[in-house]
Amino acid sequence: MLRQLKHYERPQTIEEAVALAQSNSAAQYLGGGAWIVAKGDPSLSMVIDLQHLGLNTITGELEQIRIGATASLQALIEHPDTAAFADGVLVKAARLTQSRNLREQGTLGGTLIVAGPADPLTTVLLVCDAEVAYADPARHVAPFTSFVAYRERMLKVKALLTELRLKRLAPRSALAYHTVGRSPLDKPIVGAAAFVKVDEGLAAEVRLAIGGIAPLPVRLPKVEVLLRGQLLDEARIKEALEAGLEGVEGYEDYRGSRAYRLEMARVLGRRALLEAWQKAR
Ligand SMILES: Cc1cc2nc3c(=O)[nH]c(=O)nc-3n(C[C@H](O)[C@H](O)[C@H](O)COP(=O)(O)OP(=O)(O)OC[C@H]3O[C@@H](n4cnc5c(N)ncnc54)[C@H](O)[C@@H]3O)c2cc1C
Repeated sequence: MLRQLKHYERPQTIEEAVALAQSNSAAQYLGGGAWIVAKGDPSLSMVIDLQHLGLNTITGELEQIRIGATASLQALIEHPDTAAFADGVLVKAARLTQSRNLREQGTLGGTLIVAGPADPLTTVLLVCDAEVAYADPARHVAPFTSFVAYRERMLKVKALLTELRLKRLAPRSALAYHTVGRSPLDKPIVGAAAFVKVDEGLAAEVRLAIGGIAPLPVRLPKVEVLLRGQLLDEARIKEALEAGLEGVEGYEDYRGSRAYRLEMARVLGRRALLEAWQKAR
């Protein structure tokens, strides 16, 4: 229950929104409100509704797609540019994030801010050429990987996420995303996203992210380095994954032990890399 909630603000500018949040320690931004209402923080005294900031648009440009932070997850599924991105991989991730009702309510910004260990969107965006724009109140743009690494710091200073910028895929490159959950439509317990770009028949660029083996989805740089410049096949990928996951502590909760999650990371990582490689060729 939001017992202490006394102030409801609906600012018209980004600067006003950030100033309100930063000047009140018991204030929070309100995207779709799905998380805030479900969590019911009893100390919350002010919410800053973001819906008048004009951040709910999705714009397809020649080289990139710009997605406003208050665009709903369902809008992301329905907009032609995001729907077509990487053969529907983004849509698959958005669908697996929430049920239909919560996708209408939940915003991209709110989802990325509260994303947990196997969050599908975070996992997929980690292997995309993506950037986030935010205000603290100065305007910044950072690679999505930095956003994930420094998310806690951004939360501390109450930075406002304003936009996600997604580069369109270059020719001969592809993405794939594989998951395991209690059912195929359930939220993933473990998920693997891979990006491969092919040049002269070899994997010129490789990116791999795994969700569900750490408190937030992670990239596996060792696997990427081992596979870069190679002809990919099952044996080579298997070997790289063994090396890349060596020493990874893992993560566990009631939905899966560490051992299970690490084994799934091997299986799904292999499937995602092989599919991205085959599609890119
Ligand atoms: C029944 C139920 C089950 C759920 N299960 C899950 C789950 O399994 N995993 C999960 O991750 N979520 C879950 N959620 C939470 C929620 O549905 C999603 O995370 C949702 O997409 C959040 O988006 P929102 O816009 O509604 O966020 P809000 O509730 O509006 O905000 C969430 C947080 O993000 C901050 N925020 C919002 N927008 C911005 C912004 N632009 N910049 C900076 N900060 C911002 C808010 O201040 C708040 O702290 C669940 C919710 C419900 C009701």
